[in-house]
Amino acid sequence: MRSQVAALRKFFPVDKWPALPCPRCDATLTALKGDIHYDRLSTTMARWSELGYEPDDIRGVFSGRLVCVNLLCGEVVSVLGDFAVGWDEGPTGRTELGEFLKVRMLHPALSLVETPSGVPEPVVTELDRAAAIIWSDPRSAITALRTGLERLMDAQGVPAQAASGGPPLGLHKRLKDFRTGAASGTTDAATRANASDLLEAVKWVGNDGTHAGGATIDAAAVLEMAEFIEIALRMLYAPNNAAALARAKRIITSKALVD
Ligand SMILES: [Zn+2]
Repeated sequence: MRSQVAALRKFFPVDKWPALPCPRCDATLTALKGDIHYDRLSTTMARWSELGYEPDDIRGVFSGRLVCVNLLCGEVVSVLGDFAVGWDEGPTGRTELGEFLKVRMLHPALSLVETPSGVPEPVVTELDRAAAIIWSDPRSAITALRTGLERLMDAQGVPAQAASGGPPLGLHKRLKDFRTGAASGTTDAATRANASDLLEAVKWVGNDGTHAGGATIDAAAVLEMAEFIEIALRMLYAPNNAAALARAKRIITSKALVD
């Protein structure tokens, strides 16, 4: 999980942008001074006093751009979101009014997870879809993660329909088939069981977010479920170290380099 991205789930002071990772390279994005706009145009911003509001009732919007500090990359990311005035501890330790931002959209989106290179494209597509909407519509983002599980089951060779025909199999049944090895998976049983626990947890939270009346799904919940998927994908697609481990054991046994 990219921990810097998780900083976006809350409001932050206008002069303390989280050090976000560039979507194209490993460098950091930075907000150029004067390039983040929160003009005092909205009603509460311009007339809060005459409307009888308190200063910390002031709400508005912001927009701007972030740029990659790596000059060879030069990626530019558009950003928009909410602006608010609130109380915070100032540099002297006293509580004072401050200006805060909360990101609702980044374009291009910043990835939520780091995926091993072998992860199939349809799974990555759903993870990217979740990343694009997590800050503006977390419930839709969790639905995208749930769809990602369906695509992962496709990639793992778990049938979406019973051999005898009939209606499509539900995700719960497919995950169960994956866990028990009823499907023709390439992964060993222990890995499948551990990955299944993580994936099934995502499915339950995804169900809750998809059906009306379910629990409140916020960006923090989406990030946690994305991290579960990231760990499961690492189990299923990270390079297999078995050959190197077996060779290390042979070297240990003979206490010398062996063929
Ligand atoms: Zn970059």
